[in-house]
Amino acid sequence: MRVIVTGGAGFIGSHLAGALVERGAEVVIVDDLSTGSLLNLEALIGHPAVTFLEGSVLDEALVDAVVAGADVVIHLAAAVGVKLVMERPLDSFVRNVRGTEVIIEAAERHGVKVMVASTSEVYGKNKSGVFDEGADFVYGPTTVTRWTYALSKATDEVLAHYHYLERGLPTVVLRFFNTVGPRQSPDFGMVLPRFARQAIAGEPLTVYGDGRQSRCFCHVEDTVAAIVALMDEPGAVGGIFNVGNTEEIAIIDAARTIIEKTGSPSAIELVPYLDAYGPGFEDIPRRAPDISAIHAMTGWLPTRNVDEILDAVIADVTAESVV
Ligand code: UDP
Repeated sequence: MRVIVTGGAGFIGSHLAGALVERGAEVVIVDDLSTGSLLNLEALIGHPAVTFLEGSVLDEALVDAVVAGADVVIHLAAAVGVKLVMERPLDSFVRNVRGTEVIIEAAERHGVKVMVASTSEVYGKNKSGVFDEGADFVYGPTTVTRWTYALSKATDEVLAHYHYLERGLPTVVLRFFNTVGPRQSPDFGMVLPRFARQAIAGEPLTVYGDGRQSRCFCHVEDTVAAIVALMDEPGAVGGIFNVGNTEEIAIIDAARTIIEKTGSPSAIELVPYLDAYGPGFEDIPRRAPDISAIHAMTGWLPTRNVDEILDAVIADVTAESVV
């Protein structure tokens, strides 16, 4: 089986590529190394089943050549992280929408199944807190970057879905909720590696707002198992699936636990959202996935609890800071 992983040098992509190789697949990684890194692929580069191509999913000729002859494309390449997206909104929007269009058009030409990575951000500021795949998308104005990012990923879903409905392209949409684990860079704003780095450095942990907002963090190995389970399940084609952990933790509790687990002298610093993200930013107070659809389709359930996840993040950031 030949699998193309776009964004394969990234955090989720590199774990996915490793898991696919382990199960005997031939893996072609396409990544422009904008946020991904070859360091993530240390264990894979040079492996006979792995080909790494440095390039962008906006490069139509490259994408066409790679997709021809593949059995499935797992399209993870995208702008990642609230911080990066806020800093470079236009670039993020174009990469997300045009990049997915290029991938899907190539997949259609060559009749290749595509799995498109989306995000829990698509639910926007819907206040329900727990989201099944049929939940409403609720956005603010297009002048606020968080909503345009959500729009870009929602557009990716639309492209996938209509190619499935109207052109018969086999597609699967994955809505990832917060994913964490080894190799997630603290540089793009993701909260847990940031807190771990701050705690280890003895710096204040920057909790935005009052810290009572909560998230559900899924270990990347569970996320990868979900992707593979959906890839293997023919009944998943045409579907949209939440992928995430259901255990919630308030951000301030995550900060406290990280301080405790690392034995850090760091304090918690409450940072107003305005200072953290500038004007117009709205946080999502609560965001938990309903995962009954993926569970019913594949039997998948996350296996790591939040305590193990925090330990894994701390261990990874500690190892990095020792190097
Ligand atoms: N957050 C925080 N301090 C940080 C980074 C993030 O308190 O240094 C908060 C952020 O406001 C949000 C949560 O942690 O409520 C998760 O943020 P992240 O950017 O990791 O993911 P999001 O769920 O917002 O996409």
